[in-house]
Amino acid sequence: MPLGNAARLTDVTTTDADPLVHRMRPFGTTIFAEMSALATRTGAVNLGQGFPDTDGPAEMLAAAAAALADGHNQYPPGPGIPALRSAVADHQRRFWGLDYEPDGEVLITAGATEAIAAAILALCEPGDEVICFEPYYDSYAASVALAGAVRRPVTLRPTDDGGFGFDPDELRAAFGPRTRLVLLNSPHNPTGKVFTAGELALIAGLCREHDVYAVTDEVYEHLVFTDASGPHIPLATLPGMRERTLRVSSAGKTFSCTGWKIGWASGPRALVSAVLRVKQFLTFVNGAPLQPAVAVALALPDSYFEEFRAGLQARRDRLTAGLADAGFAVLRSEGTYFVTADITALGGDDGVEFCRSLPARCGVVAVPTQVFYDDADAGRRLVRFAFCKRPEVLDEAVRRLRAS
Ligand SMILES: *Cc1c(COP(=O)(O)O)cnc(C)c1O
Repeated sequence: MPLGNAARLTDVTTTDADPLVHRMRPFGTTIFAEMSALATRTGAVNLGQGFPDTDGPAEMLAAAAAALADGHNQYPPGPGIPALRSAVADHQRRFWGLDYEPDGEVLITAGATEAIAAAILALCEPGDEVICFEPYYDSYAASVALAGAVRRPVTLRPTDDGGFGFDPDELRAAFGPRTRLVLLNSPHNPTGKVFTAGELALIAGLCREHDVYAVTDEVYEHLVFTDASGPHIPLATLPGMRERTLRVSSAGKTFSCTGWKIGWASGPRALVSAVLRVKQFLTFVNGAPLQPAVAVALALPDSYFEEFRAGLQARRDRLTAGLADAGFAVLRSEGTYFVTADITALGGDDGVEFCRSLPARCGVVAVPTQVFYDDADAGRRLVRFAFCKRPEVLDEAVRRLRAS
């Protein structure tokens, strides 16, 4: 089992004098820091990091300002304020038909990132195995390493129909006596894949058969495009899954406030309580004045969520068409903030080299997908572009890519 993909990490130090614990040494400066610094230095259009360049709903921003002025500035309750826990429960019932008791089955966290880290630290003994699909969100590997657990990646590869898929036998083979949990992200960053009903049924069946937990990262639950192969299906809605699934989401992506770091985890009482035991010693609590504001946002009418999706879908179309015009082979993005392109037709054979030279060549920043794989070869020619930017920013990026 590789400890880490060296390409993920720029600037890895491994001398004996390094005070860093061994299990964190493979994790250097993330590619995002390197690429964003490059963007700043070169004045490039940054389609690397996935943050929106417009603000979220006005009602939510006003509620946060009011909470700040009204004295919501001290420690909130450990599990989160009751109004937000209720809003999280109502929202999941409204959109997914899932019932969680706000008092005991919902926990507010410092973003989805903390929920996932606390879940892994709470559930995994050293040596336990965590199955996740690669390419994977960069915090997963670090959280697994901090727990002394072992990641078992299952590789997503481009399919003949322009999307991403996995080999069911590879998934089956990943399960073993030490498997503790499956960490599933759908809609999936970085590929834009939305796992199909069939794929989810297979994953759920294996979780039941091997009696393991599922931790689901559903931060893009409201960003499944109308032409995706199916709707978003929370894994917890499948037979026998609610009782073994910790469902994680966050306000950051849905309400365009990635800097707020208000997330949540929902699941059976025993799972949520285990996660709370760890979470209380990581951050204890966070975002007191932001919690009531996110409660307001979660209760917005369906039209907000619909317009949010339609807006991102239009931007996906805009960037997809532009990238194709510029000569990239573009893979299908069915959801999230991201679209993946293959650089082979442009003469590229290594995404890291391609992305390092892209700012100087044409003033655009993208992220090489291979840094999200343990098996770097599987993603060597793939590059991720973020389309959660204003249309004029996307157009400028495309203009520069076409001119190069
Ligand atoms: C952005 C993102 C997160 C982090 O969410 P926060 O709420 O900012 O911690 C987690 N998972 C995926 C897949 C993401 O894209």
